[in-house]
Amino acid sequence: MKRKYIFVTGGVMSGIGKGITTASILRILESKGYSVTAMKIDPYVNVDAGTMNPVEHGEVFVTDDGAECDQDIGNYERFSGKSITKDNYLTTGKVYQSVINKERNLEYDGKCVEVVPHIPNEVISRIKKAGTVANSDFVLIEIGGTIGEYQNLLFLEAARMMNLKNPEDVLIVLVSYLPVPKTIGEMKTKPTQSASRLLNEAGIQPDIIVGRSSFPVDKIRKKKISTFCNIDPKDVISAPDADSVYEVPLLLNEEKIGERILKKLGMKPKKNQKGLVEWEKFVKRLKKVDKSVKIAIVGKYFKTGDFVLTDSYISIIEAIKHASWKMGYKEEITWLSSEKYEKDKGKLKELSSYDGVVIPGGFGARGIEGKINAISYCRKNKIPFFGLCLGMQLAVIEYARNVCGIENASSAEFSENPQNPVISAMSDQKELLEKKNYGGTMRLGAYDCELGKNTISYKAYKEKLISERHRHRFEVNNKFKEVLERKGLTIAGVNPDLDLVEIIEIKKHPFFVGVQFHPEFKSSPLNGHPLFNEFIKAATQKRS
Ligand code: GLN
Repeated sequence: MKRKYIFVTGGVMSGIGKGITTASILRILESKGYSVTAMKIDPYVNVDAGTMNPVEHGEVFVTDDGAECDQDIGNYERFSGKSITKDNYLTTGKVYQSVINKERNLEYDGKCVEVVPHIPNEVISRIKKAGTVANSDFVLIEIGGTIGEYQNLLFLEAARMMNLKNPEDVLIVLVSYLPVPKTIGEMKTKPTQSASRLLNEAGIQPDIIVGRSSFPVDKIRKKKISTFCNIDPKDVISAPDADSVYEVPLLLNEEKIGERILKKLGMKPKKNQKGLVEWEKFVKRLKKVDKSVKIAIVGKYFKTGDFVLTDSYISIIEAIKHASWKMGYKEEITWLSSEKYEKDKGKLKELSSYDGVVIPGGFGARGIEGKINAISYCRKNKIPFFGLCLGMQLAVIEYARNVCGIENASSAEFSENPQNPVISAMSDQKELLEKKNYGGTMRLGAYDCELGKNTISYKAYKEKLISERHRHRFEVNNKFKEVLERKGLTIAGVNPDLDLVEIIEIKKHPFFVGVQFHPEFKSSPLNGHPLFNEFIKAATQKRS
């Protein structure tokens, strides 16, 4: 079979669930027996997402092979259960960088290198490469941003060129918004009509339109969209708001999006299709949970003006949900800004009303003293605590200061020459930092960790050697390992190659675990993640 390419574009406005739609189509096509991969193209000039503040662009998701990418890659992994590689993430910056490098290497044979066609050609060759690397039947390509924007035009141009060359192998999906203004009380299709026309202006006709709205798209509206956007009413797919994003594959499947895609590409469901049975069971299970578990996330990347932006921690939120559902609970997550625990330690008492506290990853000195105070409170008051990356480093600092009596224990990240750097820069990082060589240079991606027996972590993973994803420059300073251990800190996991501390725990506590890696990136909706599952278990026991 010739490989098929499905472009997913977004109309009217951003944030309407293009990523979840792409991830759902991925799951649906897989359920019909095909192998599918999905890629994301982001229109910004950054070469990857690694240099962006999460408040700007949401979480930076990390793949096994160390790409720092958009959170949608996380959605693709969560919905498909497969690991996605760096070939599946593209940005304008990355495309231009490689075209310019090729030009410098005389790879264009002395030709004049132009934005068109050389940039779309580079995009096309990378889309094809992603398909080859994944060896998949389908490649889904989600184009970031909204149509009509200047920034993503060259990616639409790539879609147009591919479609022109092999129309039988290419499909265009438009995910568009249908507002229901309160004052009118009726679903309006005009913005979607305009979005479709904007696509036409770029030389592209949508094959399928997914209508996102607060309500289902009814027959009349489907007919209207069909007439004005030049498609069959069967190709207008209703995608109303769902209680959980995990219901979306089921909703889209009911609307027969998979069948329509296959039909248009001249294909049939395969004989060995698994269907969505496992997914249906999971959605049923998550809808049944009634008892709640209260988890606080003490962080700093969630304020934007007057709004709380949870996108910065999306994988953590999802991992908490997966684990809670697995344990039969519904998650109740509260955002607490660490900075308030700096000014007023009295406020720490509020942590007692939660069943568990998570301190997520982060960068820079802002808010860290508040987090350290929160960790101290959790340690002393036996509140289940889970520290992720920076959260683990701060737990070590807290222990060094308050249990080992190492005054001014700190991290080399927070000041130039700390007196007692219990957290220090990894040896290969020092030079990079001096040269200000920041982009893509952290310790990134999957590394092994060997677990100690008789630890919470071993109990959770049930195996000795595990692999988790990383994104950091600093590590526990091994000079302090001896005193930390002597004073009762358990080093529960170590990277065997670098002798780098990966997990710390303390005993005589319901759950006090800090990890140098990011377990949240590998949590699956169907199974959760071993450490999150164990954390939520401890939290629910505190509850009862
Ligand atoms: N800032 C810390 C480091 O670079 C932690 C990074 C993180 O939390 N991802 O090591």
